[in-house]
Amino acid sequence: MKICIHTLGCKVNQYESDALAECLRKLGHEVCTDLEIADIYILNSCAVTNEAERKSRQAVSKFYALNPNAKVLVCGCASEKDDAQFSSLKNVNFVSGVANKMKLIEKLDIDGAEIDPLPLAYDDFGLSTSSNTRAYVKIQDGCNNFCSYCIIPYLRGRSRSRDIVSILNEVEGLVSGAITDNKPFVNEIVLTGINLSDFKIDGKSGLITLLKELDKFGVRIRLGSLEQGLISDDFLKEAKALKNFCPHFHLSMQSGSSSVLKRMNRKYTAKEYLKSVRKIRKFFPDSAITTDVIVGFLGETKKEFNETCKTIKKAKFASMHIFPFSLRTGTVAEKLLLNGKYSLVSSEIIKKRVKKLEKINKKLKKKYINSLKGKKFQMLTETIHDDFIVGHTENFIKCYLQANIVELNTLYQVEIVEPYKDGALVKIS
Ligand code: SF4
Repeated sequence: MKICIHTLGCKVNQYESDALAECLRKLGHEVCTDLEIADIYILNSCAVTNEAERKSRQAVSKFYALNPNAKVLVCGCASEKDDAQFSSLKNVNFVSGVANKMKLIEKLDIDGAEIDPLPLAYDDFGLSTSSNTRAYVKIQDGCNNFCSYCIIPYLRGRSRSRDIVSILNEVEGLVSGAITDNKPFVNEIVLTGINLSDFKIDGKSGLITLLKELDKFGVRIRLGSLEQGLISDDFLKEAKALKNFCPHFHLSMQSGSSSVLKRMNRKYTAKEYLKSVRKIRKFFPDSAITTDVIVGFLGETKKEFNETCKTIKKAKFASMHIFPFSLRTGTVAEKLLLNGKYSLVSSEIIKKRVKKLEKINKKLKKKYINSLKGKKFQMLTETIHDDFIVGHTENFIKCYLQANIVELNTLYQVEIVEPYKDGALVKIS
């Protein structure tokens, strides 16, 4: 049977879809991830914003347009939040939530809806598949932080960590090529989780221990999104001593105004955040520090937005993901709005602010690349696009390389020439 798995949202969803795909292939099914005609569609939905939820529902209509007779199964955060929004659609056969997504394999022939309670222990998917060069390995799920704007802790449950032995087994398989069927081995592992910084071994902070173990495999190790509280001199010192650690820190900021951060229930001030940025630069001067920013959070004043702009300029981010604020039902932010404590920022103002940050983002990105001109990095070659070989350096600069003899999925030493498109033009060095 041909099964199309359509995934929306974060790297964790992507990882879970990959694991599902790998199992279905092993059972003899043909699996695709692009939207094309199939016998069965599996939607791994997302609810991080209203827009993500709308896109999840829209995907079901797209399946219908492609094959009105196909079966449709839905799982993920949007169906966990509100299963009726999918089960009421005429072409949806089965709906589940966030827990136990692998169970969908048993439900290919069944109609109905089953939303299991969220697991308290880590739900291990076993071995995943990967792209040819880079593999995302999930090590943690859930979150205890309850940022006031975020629905994820309610949909994914409390923080729980994957067993370190299971992680090391998966990485061993990925690096040796043993679990990627006929695909070549991977050269980079990206650790993902809903709140990666909260990864624990036997109840104690365990990320650095895991990094040390993974370093022995001899492939690049990159971290997904981190929280400011993880950054300490000890953590950075130990990370610096690793041979294969990628100096790329995606440090979620969300706002650069301390009063907005407080309303968001983030656990730091703008000053503390900047202190962490300075610490990272002390140990990793050329590192890429990237971030997420939410624009127009409840009651965000002009003064607060300007504070955010100032913090961003001081942090000199290599790149930012900029999101307009989207109010989610069931969050503390919704209560703050209903209590009349704070009001929504108008969409026109949000648009203007997003535009301003996009401008700053462009400038800072260019500035970062320019600061690295003439410096040497290791480029992992990933794809060929137009006349260029495209890949990423250890500090996640997207590289465009024109060269005759270059193998894909290989590390090359390159020199940064100048900013180009969304990254840098490089030459073999
Ligand atoms: S840290 Fe905050 S934003 Fe991230 S998942 Fe947890 S509650 Fe949501």
